[in-house]
Parts: sequence; structure tokens; C-alpha cells
Amino acid sequence: MTKPLLVFNSKGIYCKQADVYIDAWRPVEKCIVTHGHSDHSRRGHKQYITHHNNIPIIKHRLGDITVSGKEWGETFTINGVTFSLHPAGHIVASSQVRVEYKGEVWVFTGDYKIENDGLSTPYEPIKCHTFITECTFGLPAFKWEPQDDVFNEINGWWARNKDEGRTSLLFGYSLGKAQRLLKHLDTSIGKIYTHGAVEQMTQVLREHYDLPPTELITANTKKEDILGNIVVAPPSAQGSSLMRKIGPNVTASASGWMTFRGARRRRALDRGFVLSDHADWDGLLQAVKETGCEKVIATHGYTEIFSRYLREEMALDARTESTQYEAEQNEAESKKEEGAS
Ligand SMILES: [Zn+2]
Repeated sequence: MTKPLLVFNSKGIYCKQADVYIDAWRPVEKCIVTHGHSDHSRRGHKQYITHHNNIPIIKHRLGDITVSGKEWGETFTINGVTFSLHPAGHIVASSQVRVEYKGEVWVFTGDYKIENDGLSTPYEPIKCHTFITECTFGLPAFKWEPQDDVFNEINGWWARNKDEGRTSLLFGYSLGKAQRLLKHLDTSIGKIYTHGAVEQMTQVLREHYDLPPTELITANTKKEDILGNIVVAPPSAQGSSLMRKIGPNVTASASGWMTFRGARRRRALDRGFVLSDHADWDGLLQAVKETGCEKVIATHGYTEIFSRYLREEMALDARTESTQYEAEQNEAESKKEEGAS
């Protein structure tokens, strides 16, 4: 048996032939980074390789790092192994990594979703022999509605809250989800205010992405100014002192976890919108089929259930590997500012 092209070791996903890691969770010499969420782009690597548009994002988070940027589909070869980055559609500038050596092709998805969110470069299926896939939402219960329908609900909710003299407070992670929300909010209803973490990341992204005007909430912002408008804030801001200054408001979260009513109740939210930046069950299956792969390795999420389905129903050679990409549990969601949503 030939040696696997990528292995999972104590530091991350490793290509021995090229001596390079992908989304390593411990500091390494050279690391290809799929996207800017903190569980995939960690501190301390000597050299980072990522998509051009992800550079300002990870520099904002990690400070002055040594990083080289690549275009989608641009190949680079390290010790005979050819790598390229391809759109993952998860958040802005998120990539899958294609790895080829002596005719054998592996793809690591990082995090991904199938639906075009109108902001991120859409997911691109890549043919491969071995497909390493996330499966955060790898249960049949997860089924997303088209995003246009979800945004109609969100904008309708905002308009009703405004009519009732209340401010809408919408929670979504500051990188990715927040900008997707901004992009599709109907600004004919009112103004968009932001929490600091959302505002900072949005300013970073404005360099490459077209986003509507936002106004940062500060200690000097008056309740009367915000009233009837919408505030976009990270989940961690729920209950913070700044948020308590907003006045009469209605709260909601936009997340795949809102599939479960309990997730909304536990966080005492008035409303939950099911909107995820990950593939749902059908999306995961579609992705696997479109790669034409023979082998699947499921990395994070409902890995056991998903890989068993692939083995039993699709006759694929599917297994799981444990990683340190955050074990996305809905209970943990409110505690994490960034991660799966
Ligand atoms: Zn992510």
C-alpha cells in the first residue's frame, strides 16, 4: 500500500512529501490556511500560504505574519507535490486545498457550503480520489431553505419590529456571517448599526467586497437614533452592557443551529433564523458525489453518522479522523465569538 498523501498528526493535516501542513492547530514551519476563522488560522506558524483576499483578514487577527497569497486555481509545487486553492463558498476568501502527487489527488474542504451566498466566491466541486470533508451539519435533520427565503423572513421581521417601535438585534459571527447579513439586509427599512467586532472586520473586508454602510455603536450613540433600526453583533455580545443600552429591542440569531428550537430557547432569543455557512445534509452528499471520489475522510461535526451513511448507502470507503477544528456544539455557540455557524 502506498503511503497516504495527507496524514493527521498531533499538529494538523500534514503532507510529508512536501513538508507542509494544512490548517495546523499547533505552530509549524509552513502552513496552508483555508480561511480566517480562528480554529483554522492559528497563531505561530513561520510561513502562511492562503488566498490573496484572506491575507488582510488573517493579518487583522494574527498581526504581522509572513504570508504568501495565491489566486484560485493557481498551482504551486513543493518538492514534487502540486497544490492549488479553490473556492469553498463558506465565508469570504475561504478555500479548499487540492493536493496532487504522482497522479493521485486529494482535496481538503476546510469549511464549505454549496449555496452561493452572493458575497463569497461560490463553492467549486473538484474531482479527486480522496475527499477530506467537514460535516458540521452531517445529520438529515439539517436542511437549509434558499437564502432568498430566509432573508425575506429576516427583513420582514425587522420591518415589523420597526412598526412596533423596537430595535432589531441580530446575532451572527463577526467574520463571515455578519457580512452575509449586511449584504442582504434591506436598507430601505432603516439603518444598520454594528457592534465593534463586526465593524472592525467589516472595515477590513471593504477593501475587496461591496458592503452597505454601517454605523458603529459607541457609548455616545443615543437610544433614539438606534430605535427601529437593526444592530448586527456577534453572539458573544448578547447581554453585554453596550447591548443593554439599546432600548426596547427584539433579539434573533442567524445560524444553522437554529434548526433546533432548544438552541434558541437556551439562549433566550426571541427568534431564530436557520442560516448557515456550512453545507446541510444534502449539500454534503452532493459535494461527495460531485468529487467522484473513492475515499472520504470526515473531519469535524457529525462524522460518525455521516461516514456510516457513506459506507452503507453509497458503498464508499469512508472513515473519520479527529481534528482540533472546534467541536461545534450548539451549546457552545454563545461562548465562541468565531467558529461554525
Ligand atoms: Zn469556518
